[in-house]
Amino acid sequence: MIEHRMAQSLCPYCGYKMDCASGVDHNKHPTPRSLSICIMCGGFLKFNDQLSLEKLEDDEFQELPASVQRKLNLVRETVAKVHENKRKELQ
Ligand SMILES: [Zn+2]
Repeated sequence: MIEHRMAQSLCPYCGYKMDCASGVDHNKHPTPRSLSICIMCGGFLKFNDQLSLEKLEDDEFQELPASVQRKLNLVRETVAKVHENKRKELQ
């Protein structure tokens, strides 16, 4: 997985500062309307025309093909598991 540097952007859900992105199933640089997920809170995101991150609204999520919805949900579950494992390590 290749990480791409990008202009610093804040997660609109949790405020987490992000300055790089990785493709879920490709190694291309993000483009306007690319989808993303916050690695901190698992919020669904999209890149706008300035390549800043915006919320992916529920109705936009519902319009995505089922295969893409499944992929995003899978990544969200993985993010949640990573955080859960980190919490367990700290206990
Ligand atoms: Zn977030």
